[in-house]
Amino acid sequence: MSAKRIEYNAALSQRIEIAPGLAIFRVVPDGDLFDFEPGQYSVLGLRCKALRIIDSDPDPDNSKCGEDPERLIRRAYSIASSSLEREFIEFYITLVRSGELTPRLFNLTIGDRLYLGPRATGLFTLNQVPSHKHILLVSTGTGLAPYISMVRSQLDCNQGRHFVVLNGARYSWDLGYRDELNFLSRLCRNFSYFPIISRPDRDPTWNGLEGRVQTLLASGVVEEKTGLSLTPENFDVFLCGNPAMIEDVIQMVEARGFVKDERKNPGTIHVEEYW
Ligand SMILES: Cc1cc2nc3c(=O)[nH]c(=O)nc-3n(C[C@H](O)[C@H](O)[C@H](O)COP(=O)(O)OP(=O)(O)OC[C@H]3O[C@@H](n4cnc5c(N)ncnc54)[C@H](O)[C@@H]3O)c2cc1C
Repeated sequence: MSAKRIEYNAALSQRIEIAPGLAIFRVVPDGDLFDFEPGQYSVLGLRCKALRIIDSDPDPDNSKCGEDPERLIRRAYSIASSSLEREFIEFYITLVRSGELTPRLFNLTIGDRLYLGPRATGLFTLNQVPSHKHILLVSTGTGLAPYISMVRSQLDCNQGRHFVVLNGARYSWDLGYRDELNFLSRLCRNFSYFPIISRPDRDPTWNGLEGRVQTLLASGVVEEKTGLSLTPENFDVFLCGNPAMIEDVIQMVEARGFVKDERKNPGTIHVEEYW
């Protein structure tokens, strides 16, 4: 018996270009949008027969697209919209030119149909963090996406809980959501945003922070900004993005007594791995 064909069930309603190969996608499901917790992810999908964007590489060697143009390619994406937003669901996506799905996603135009998974999943949320604890959100690139959802849904400017967001990118034009986060940091005393770029030599008009996220963290910006020491008594740390950054920051905070959160052993370091 053949498996039931999965139909497209959503449409692209908006696309906000951040830089070439970096965009915010807003998707509207045919029916009601599922509920989700900020930090969770869902799935997007397109069939192999969907066209790849023109400046991408051919499908990777291990792709089965050549054999079956009807095959649905599915990938996980963190949700960036507020959990209170019911009109659309938002994703922040980078183009992997050699990948299977993203060259097809980046070829979509407004109104095009695609597959949206029927639910959100994932434990990369603030649910298990005690309400008195402060939140340190460290990311590179689109690893910022789950934090955008958390900040939009769960930051309360009148509360004592600090949210500190660190986001690293190569160039300033790759720092998506920068205006929104800068605005929030002016509006809320308990919200801080540190954008940092690693290739300032090719971005001469940038006059902000330069270097890598892990170096920035080690320099003590979080303590300086919040007046709190970076200890597991004060903070839970969230990490999302480049695997090397994640590894470095885990080592750094483990030395301060933070412990990785695991299904059976709750901890103060929470990790979402994209690849
Ligand atoms: C829980 C979860 C949430 C995710 N959320 C996001 C998100 O919010 N935004 C997003 O852009 N991606 C996200 N990803 C990654 C996403 O699922 C895909 O892996 C990515 O879009 C590449 O898909 P592809 O089919 O084009 O490439 P594939 O054909 O799957 O090729 C994958 C290869 O591309 C590389 N790769 C994957 N992602 C990246 C990346 N971001 N930068 C550089 N190289 C990469 C890896 O080497 C990987 O082996 C998430 C992954 C997981 C597991």
